[in-house]
Amino acid sequence: MVRKGGGPDGSAGAGDELSERLKKYQGRAATVGGVGRDLVNAPMIRHWCEAMGDTNPAYEGPDAVAPPTMLQAWTMSGLSGHADRPGRSGTYDELFGLLDGAGYTSVVATDCEQEYLHPLRPGDEITFDSMIESVSGRKTTKLGTGYFVTTRMDIRAGGELAGTHRFRILKYAPAHRSPKSTETAPGSSGSARTKSAEPKSRRPRPVINRDNAGFWEGVGRHRLLIQRCTACGTLRFPWLPGCGACGCPDWDTVESGGEGTVYSYVVMHHPPFPAFDPPYAVALVELAEGVRIVSNVVDVPYDEVRIGMPVRLAFRRYDADVELPVFRAAASVDRSGEGS
Ligand code: ZN
Repeated sequence: MVRKGGGPDGSAGAGDELSERLKKYQGRAATVGGVGRDLVNAPMIRHWCEAMGDTNPAYEGPDAVAPPTMLQAWTMSGLSGHADRPGRSGTYDELFGLLDGAGYTSVVATDCEQEYLHPLRPGDEITFDSMIESVSGRKTTKLGTGYFVTTRMDIRAGGELAGTHRFRILKYAPAHRSPKSTETAPGSSGSARTKSAEPKSRRPRPVINRDNAGFWEGVGRHRLLIQRCTACGTLRFPWLPGCGACGCPDWDTVESGGEGTVYSYVVMHHPPFPAFDPPYAVALVELAEGVRIVSNVVDVPYDEVRIGMPVRLAFRRYDADVELPVFRAAASVDRSGEGS
């Protein structure tokens, strides 16, 4: 691993200098006047819908529109890569080169956010521009220390803005992992003792955004809220911005009564994740209302979870910030002080 001064080892001084250099990339163009390889077209739409299992009738027939979530697909360069891409500036490569050189050699995509301004239709010619919207200060995450880089792409059809695609990555130096044995080794060194005094890893934080904020607000009140389309009444879970059955964006919620059955499950053995103690069961629970939720069946040995097992909702607090809906075997609930 590269451990240069001022790099991911956390040494002061030169790290700040790197931050300064990275900040200068904010607002710089990454792609200017990019052109989609293909016009918006029915075959790509059909393949997408088949892969997603999306049967919305709006995406077929003579008046078809493209699924909004295909926005980025129309800008992709395909297997031939980016190298000879017209309009692509060297900005992104330069920024990555700078981070690589400082030891932040790993990359992970963290999230993306899209806004849709008007629908794309077969025959539309796509043009796009992208820019480095922001580079964060140096952040330490579970994966390691690094910088979040947000790229914004504006996608146009016929010169008119059709949507915006924001894409965020973390460019980081992997955290140094001590073998577990050093934590309990007799005669351990000072640094190993420091290691064992660290708090146990915390559960990953849920990603709360505009589309699912109401769900998490409900969890905070010990309510499991299911979205309901106000046009056609279809329930949906997890939360989404529009109805998969009729396309209507308007919704209200119904509260789950908390009854469910295990529809399917897996037992996780590997890979190990911080904050989780394998083996443990991850269940797909079908709620009595008909929608399904991925959760944990708790207080049941992992090898006793079964398809069809009746379960009941409870809320379990994992730390000061994270409380999650979980499920217990239905028969055990009455003896429990935990629950909604
Ligand atoms: Zn609907």
